[in-house]
Amino acid sequence: MSFFADRNHELHVEDVPLSRIAEQFGTPCFVYSRAALTAAFQAYDEGFGAHPHLICYAAKANSNLAVLDILARLGSGFDIVSGGELKRVLTAGGDPQKVVFSGVGKSETELREALATGILCFNIESESELQRLARIASDMGCTAPISLRVNPDVDARTHPYISTGLRRNKFGVSVEDALRLYHYAHRTSGLRVTGIDCHIGSQLIELAPMQDAARKVVSLVDKLAKEGISIEHIDFGGGLGIRYTDEAPPDRGQFVQMLLSCVGDRQYKIMIEPGRSIVGNAGILLSRVEYLKHGQEKNFAVIDAAMNDLMRPALYDAHHDIRTVRGKKAAVAVYDVVGPVCETSDFLGTDRALAIAEGDLLAVMSAGAYAMSMSSNYNTRPRAAEIMVDGSSVHLVRARERIDDLYAGEICLPD
Ligand SMILES: *Cc1c(COP(=O)(O)O)cnc(C)c1O
Repeated sequence: MSFFADRNHELHVEDVPLSRIAEQFGTPCFVYSRAALTAAFQAYDEGFGAHPHLICYAAKANSNLAVLDILARLGSGFDIVSGGELKRVLTAGGDPQKVVFSGVGKSETELREALATGILCFNIESESELQRLARIASDMGCTAPISLRVNPDVDARTHPYISTGLRRNKFGVSVEDALRLYHYAHRTSGLRVTGIDCHIGSQLIELAPMQDAARKVVSLVDKLAKEGISIEHIDFGGGLGIRYTDEAPPDRGQFVQMLLSCVGDRQYKIMIEPGRSIVGNAGILLSRVEYLKHGQEKNFAVIDAAMNDLMRPALYDAHHDIRTVRGKKAAVAVYDVVGPVCETSDFLGTDRALAIAEGDLLAVMSAGAYAMSMSSNYNTRPRAAEIMVDGSSVHLVRARERIDDLYAGEICLPD
């Protein structure tokens, strides 16, 4: 990760030393690299060469307006999963004609708003949703562009909580149901069949399951074409993993090559919905050591970031590398790195060998995706500030929450 590297014995983001950011904005805070974001997007984009394509960044991975804005300027589309994300994308300057709307539980209001906005495509996840959308579209006197999310029933071999492409998962419709529903959509006014999509899981580090899924989807597309239902785009979803510690996921170019070869000389626009692989390694969580606690069995480094800032370790037992910001003379000891939240699962890392003293800064690496976007106010902890580094410039892109914001909407009972 060259965008996050040691220079003169101090960890920098691009050209900016992290200690300067901590001084200016306090800790904990998320620090993102614009260059890292850009490079990740471009690796996908360039992989497609001249083949018609659209990269729809999955906004849920990190929906900060500055992140969305940077990607929109690069030509990115967006995969959204709520009306809230639609508003964010539009506010950040995203093009509605590059927005696809995924998710199993789109409400009546969300569907209406997205229809009124004129998005590119609704990625439909059930028969009931298809019927609801048809009714709303007729009601509004418009036509809804649709794609069916096909569940290809492949094992993505990732953590069960982030696997989505098995029959037992709640997502999408089976290949058999898809055929029937495409025919229904084809003959239903208010609906226009424009594509097909799938998404089998997240943090995938093998190409094979994604290739299995892609082949199944393409063969379904061929079948549909034979039955007189033609589509314009194939959306292969997101899911490509990143290196948190020693994983070796295929690179973005290889992934795109695999898709291109599955599609062959068929003339479909190819879409993908990457989230983690665009932002994951473009951000870190910067935190300060509050206390070192040497117990009989374990040593603890109690830091000022916690599971409410980054819940992946508590939720998935996920590993994030933790690095010291400045080389220190302190003795190396093995620590569990924990936060102040009152839960045993409140750890950012376990058994880490670190040379640290109280007051030192630590960087929790690979914290650009599913970190701030999954954060909470548990223990009435204000959400962390977010900073975007661009070369040697530093931009505050979300102010640290203030405590009174946290209960601003709460109301005590009358006397
Ligand atoms: C979450 C999600 C994505 C993004 O997944 P990543 O693993 O972050 O790339 C893409 N598509 C859909 C439908 C999703 O739910």
